[in-house]
Amino acid sequence: MSHPSPGHGSAANDARDGEPPIFSSMRVVVDRDRCEGNAVCVRIAPEVFTLDDDECATVAADPVPVEQETLAQHAIAECPRAALSRKD
Ligand code: SF4
Repeated sequence: MSHPSPGHGSAANDARDGEPPIFSSMRVVVDRDRCEGNAVCVRIAPEVFTLDDDECATVAADPVPVEQETLAQHAIAECPRAALSRKD
């Protein structure tokens, strides 16, 4: 007689240790001295970055919305001038 009963009796044990809470604390800072206005970041994450009148990137979404974090991180990595940095 086999009678498997997975998890029965351990309802309080739901393994969420170490998971960060889901809210956005990501911010991105533009180093205006480095930025050359080539808009690489704007093309990658147009909802996060925009160019101002001086052709310098500015952060339009601050803090960065959770659903845009991956794109923002990608833009940081791809900026040819290393003008973007993450600040949480
Ligand atoms: S990718 Fe870098 S250099 Fe280009 S506009 Fe954005 S911040 Fe400026």
